[in-house]
Amino acid sequence: MDIILLGPPAAGKGTLAQWLIRDFDVIHASTGDMLRKAIKDGTELGKIAKPLMDAGKLVPDNIVNGIIQEWLRGIPAGRGIIFDGFPRTVAQAEALDEMLASVGRQIDCVVSIQVTEEIVVERIGGRLSCPRDGSVYHATNYPPKIAGKCDKCGADLIQRDDDKPEKIIERYKQYLEKTMPLAGYYDQKGLLFPVDGRGGSEEVYAMVSRKLRSS
Ligand code: ADP
Repeated sequence: MDIILLGPPAAGKGTLAQWLIRDFDVIHASTGDMLRKAIKDGTELGKIAKPLMDAGKLVPDNIVNGIIQEWLRGIPAGRGIIFDGFPRTVAQAEALDEMLASVGRQIDCVVSIQVTEEIVVERIGGRLSCPRDGSVYHATNYPPKIAGKCDKCGADLIQRDDDKPEKIIERYKQYLEKTMPLAGYYDQKGLLFPVDGRGGSEEVYAMVSRKLRSS
């Protein structure tokens, strides 16, 4: 089962992905994590991506499409994929359809998490990320077991540079302009599953896991 998680920054995509990975036979594909790793490793790709990410802009379609194409090569046919943060533009969605078709796969469900701009700003302020394994926490809504440490690997949690309040406005604008049209793209294909994300991760997870178990 191949699933896309769609929604603005801090809608809860990362947390939902972590819980789905825990409970279903699926692998996580986060282009944000892949790009952050490229920056950390100092690759050419990372050098191109860093200033764009720091400014809250999107990385060009051909670059992220290439990353996903490469990543797809290593994926066993029997396991599902959770796409988190990809696709983010209609051009990426079209490319993904082609890439999946070429390996005999297809998207089965697009979970669209809906939250307001106010919620995005509030949640981003409290978000804590693990620089080592990409896990996400929230200072009050979903705190780590030991303050400041990742539950899974024990690394010190950080606030991402692009989670600073002044960056989030630009990221939200990019989402409205470039990513929101994807809801229409997938709705036309009969794949869209909208969920109300205002209540928080547990409620979203309950709705999504019920939907996936029934399909
Ligand atoms: P969030 O889900 O909180 O917005 P991500 O970790 O998914 O954060 O993405 C962080 C940044 O990485 C984005 O603001 C963008 O600059 C870049 N990025 C990630 N995925 C994509 C993508 N599919 N297309 C273009 N840029 C991307």
